[in-house]
Amino acid sequence: MKCEGYPYAFDPKACQSCTGKCCIGESGYIWVSQEEISAIALKLSLSKEEFINNYLLKIRYRFTIKEIAYEGGYGCIFFDMEKKMCRIYDVRPQQCRTFPFWEYFKENIDEVVTECPGIIRL
Ligand code: SF4
Repeated sequence: MKCEGYPYAFDPKACQSCTGKCCIGESGYIWVSQEEISAIALKLSLSKEEFINNYLLKIRYRFTIKEIAYEGGYGCIFFDMEKKMCRIYDVRPQQCRTFPFWEYFKENIDEVVTECPGIIRL
C-alpha cells in the first residue's frame, strides 16, 4: 500500500506477525474526536460520560485515550495484551486507521521503521 507523497509503502500483511508495536511502546497521544467518542461508547455499551471518565484524558480542548504501563513502556488501554490486538478495532480512532501514514513520519522514517515491520522504504 502506497500513499501519495510518502517515501515508504506499507505491507498490511506484516500486522499478522506483529505484536501490536503501533499500540505500545513510548507514551503518546491517541486523539479521539467527538464522533469517535460516541461510536466507541456505543460499542462498549457505556454512556459518553462513563466512557470519557473511565478511558479518556482531557488535554486542553481535546481527548486522548488513556495508556497503562506495559513491558517497560506504555500501551493503549484498549490493546488486548493477551491477543496482541485492538479491542475496539472496528471503531478505532482515525489516528489509528491512518497509521503509518502520518505527516510526522515523512521526515522521521527511521522512527516508523523501528515501530512498524510493514514499512518498505521506496
Ligand atoms: S485504539 Fe486500538 S488501534 Fe488505536 S492505539 Fe489503541 S489499541 Fe491500538
